[in-house]
Amino acid sequence: MSIRKIARLGHPILRQKAREVTQNELQSSEFNRLIQDLKDTMEEFGGLGLAAPQIYESIQVAVICFSEGNPRYPNMGQEPLRVYINPKITILDPTEQSYWEGCLSIPELRGLVVRPRKIKITYWNEGGEIQDKTAEDFLATVFQHELDHLNGVLFVDLIKPIPGKTELAFVEEFRRYIQPQS
Ligand code: ZN
Repeated sequence: MSIRKIARLGHPILRQKAREVTQNELQSSEFNRLIQDLKDTMEEFGGLGLAAPQIYESIQVAVICFSEGNPRYPNMGQEPLRVYINPKITILDPTEQSYWEGCLSIPELRGLVVRPRKIKITYWNEGGEIQDKTAEDFLATVFQHELDHLNGVLFVDLIKPIPGKTELAFVEEFRRYIQPQS
C-alpha cells in the first residue's frame, strides 16, 4: 500500500477528461495497486470519496466510502466502500438540492452546491461486471461530486456567484458562522 500525494486546484490533471478503463486492465497488478492506493489515500485524508485524477491518474475510477463518524462530514449517514469503474450518471429526479461540499483537492474551502436530488449510477465493479446503484439526497451529491472529477469538473465550478453572498467559505469560518454543529 501507499498513500499518494493529492493533486490540488490549479493542477491541469484535475481538468482533463479521464480515459475509460479496459476489461484487460482490470487484471493487471498495476491497476490493482492503483485501487489500493486510492482506498488508502482516501482513508488517510478522511475523504468520503476519491477519484483517480486526484492522485494524478487520469482514468475513470473512483472510490466512495463513509461512516457516521467521519469528522469532516458528521451525521451524514453511511456508505460501504466500493470501487466505481467507468461510471455513468442518469438523473432520476432533477429536483434541486444543495449541500455544502468540500474536496481534498481544494483544501480549506467549503461551498454550497446545487445538484439533482436522485440519480442512478451504472458502473463496472472490480470484476468488470456491470452494476447499477441509485443514490438520493446527500449520497447523490457525493456521487456527483466524485464522478465530476472524471470529467474535469470541480465543485467550485458549480457554485452560483451571487454579488454580496456567494456561498463559499473557509472551513474554519464555515464551522464558526455557518454550521456551528459540524
Ligand atoms: Zn473532490
